[in-house]
Amino acid sequence: MDLGSLDRTLREKSKEAVAWSFDRWRKRDESAASSGTSITFLGTGGNPEASFTQQPRTGGFLLEAGGIRLYVDPGPGAVVYARQMAIDLGALDAVYVSHGHLDHYAGAESAVEAMCWAMYARRGYLLAPNNVLQGEQLVSRYHQGANAHGGYKGGPEVISLEADKPVLLKNALLRPVRAHHTRDNYGFVLDTGNLSIGYTSDTNYIRTYSTPEGIKEVLRGSGPLMDFIEVADYRKDIKEVFSKVDVLVANVTSHNLWANRHLTTLGLPHLLKGSRVKLCFITHFNHCCVQPEDLRPLMAQFVQEKSGVKTIAAYDGAVHDLELLLAGLGVK
Ligand SMILES: [Zn+2]
Ligand SMILES: [Zn+2]
Repeated sequence: MDLGSLDRTLREKSKEAVAWSFDRWRKRDESAASSGTSITFLGTGGNPEASFTQQPRTGGFLLEAGGIRLYVDPGPGAVVYARQMAIDLGALDAVYVSHGHLDHYAGAESAVEAMCWAMYARRGYLLAPNNVLQGEQLVSRYHQGANAHGGYKGGPEVISLEADKPVLLKNALLRPVRAHHTRDNYGFVLDTGNLSIGYTSDTNYIRTYSTPEGIKEVLRGSGPLMDFIEVADYRKDIKEVFSKVDVLVANVTSHNLWANRHLTTLGLPHLLKGSRVKLCFITHFNHCCVQPEDLRPLMAQFVQEKSGVKTIAAYDGAVHDLELLLAGLGVK
C-alpha cells in the first residue's frame, strides 16, 4: 500500500469536505423571510417520562407569524426532529425558552448553534427568563454569544424575559406573560396586528374547586382531582390575558393530575369559556395521556364541548396552517 498516496488523498478530500460544509452551514446566505402563519409541533410531550421516553416527543414547536420563525421550548430531541422534518434551523429568527425545566430548555443550545450558523454569525434572538440565562445558566454563556472575541464569534442577541416588557420581533410584538409554575416562567402573547397567538407555557390555573363535600384547594400533592365539579377560584391574570387571543397553545399536561402546577383539561374549558379564542391547541402531554391508551382525542373533545371553542390535540410532527384553519371556522 502506498501510505503516502492514501494520506494525500485523505488530506485533499478532508479539505474539500470542510470547505463544502462551511459553505453550507457557516457562510450561508439568509433565507427569505417567513411569509406564512403556521404552527409546527416538533414535539408535544412534557414532564420527565416524556423527556426520557420521547413518548410524546419533547421537541417544542415552531411558530411562523408576522414574518418571523420562532422556535418555542426546544426540549430534548429538538434538533433531531427538526432534521427529520427538514426544518432549516439556520433560518430561525428566535429561540424562546419559557422556563428552566428540561422538557423546555434542553434542546436550546443546539437550536442556537444552528440559528447562529455554527456560532459564526451574530444573528437571531434568544429569549429566556433570567434564571435560565444567569441564575442556573441553563443555556451556556457561550451559547449566549459571550465568545465574541474567540474563534466562534457568533451568537444571538439575548433578551431576558420580563412581564410587561414587550419585545418587537420584526413585525410581531411578543409580550411575556408570567406563569404560575416555577419561580421564573413566562408564556407569551405574540401579536402580528392581524392575529394574536397565546402560549400558556406550564402554569397552575385552578386554585380551588367545588366538590360534593365543599370547596377544596389545589395543593401540592393533592393527587388526581376525582371529586372535581367546577372551578371555584382561578388565576385571573391568566384568564384575563389569554382569553383575548385568537389562537391559544395550551400546555395542559393531563386531564386531572398535577393541577397545582399545570393547567389540565379540567381547568382549560373554564379559561376558554366566554373568551375571544377561536382556536385552541392542547399540547405538553404527560406520558399518561398516550400510554397505555391515547387519551388526547377525548381530552380535546372534553375541552371543546365544555368551552364551545374549537380544540385540536397536537400530535408529534403535525403542521397546522393557522390562516386556513381560521378560514375554515369562518374567521377572517
Ligand atoms: Zn413542562
Ligand atoms: Zn415545567
